[in-house]
Amino acid sequence: MPWFSKKNKQIEAVPPEERVVKTENVFVKCDACDAHLYKRDLEESRQVCAQCGYHFRIGARERLAMLYDDGKFEELDAEVISIDPLGFVDTKPYPDRLKQARKNSGVSEAIINGRGKVGDHLVFAGAMDMSFIGGSMGSAVGEKVTRLVEKAIEENGAVIIFAASGGARMQEGALSLMQMAKISAALAELDEARLPFISVLTDPTTGGVTASFATLGDVVLAEPKALIGFAGPRVIEQTIRQKLPKDFQRSEFLLEHGMVDAIVDRRELRDYIIKVLAFMMNPEIPSETEMRRLRTRATSGQ
Ligand SMILES: [Zn+2]
Repeated sequence: MPWFSKKNKQIEAVPPEERVVKTENVFVKCDACDAHLYKRDLEESRQVCAQCGYHFRIGARERLAMLYDDGKFEELDAEVISIDPLGFVDTKPYPDRLKQARKNSGVSEAIINGRGKVGDHLVFAGAMDMSFIGGSMGSAVGEKVTRLVEKAIEENGAVIIFAASGGARMQEGALSLMQMAKISAALAELDEARLPFISVLTDPTTGGVTASFATLGDVVLAEPKALIGFAGPRVIEQTIRQKLPKDFQRSEFLLEHGMVDAIVDRRELRDYIIKVLAFMMNPEIPSETEMRRLRTRATSGQ
């Protein structure tokens, strides 16, 4: 006789549709150190790996939400979108490419403009999105950046732009390149109005964006280990026929060579920007119009 009798009741099998163990989207593997990170922890640490400090690429909306007080901002110029001025066709027609990019990325262009408060300072911020045709700068991106700067001048606010770009948008040819001059001219006006422009370089910042507004900041910040450059390293090596130094075109290399002012961890970026704004938006420093008034008063001897 067996010591234990077997109960007749059978264990019921779980129906196949309920058999799936839902681990999907719970863990994310770090690209740099292969650590498995709990997705919620990663969100809390602003998409930075807690093990090695690797900065994951993030979208434009997420970026602006991280910057603004309580994550709140008013979106500006959402109606500005690219058209197809050249009737350009590569592997597919440009309008189809735009339509697909809009669908896949959830943004209407490669940059989002916002208006809101950062540490109680009025800030006009733009964030570029790599998921929209490689964050490329076409006419619409150029127009949006220019409008952002003009609006800041009008309302006496600061400008912050988060660059993330593969460069100019090939499908718009020379029109893309003209944006470099247009934005630079607008930034010169911002400078004359004595309003600050903080440029934040994220991974990657390349091509026409690096060659124009991204490196024109009064303060140029970079995220750790971001790729920042004009042409890619392979193109440069082939052109100059020389081996490039290790970590060439990374934030740390650029900091060492004076191209960026500081490398700031994303987890400390907002606080850092608030500190910079408190210094640069100091109301005790007179504005340009105020200065002009004081100057005329001094010369006219009143
Ligand atoms: Zn890691």
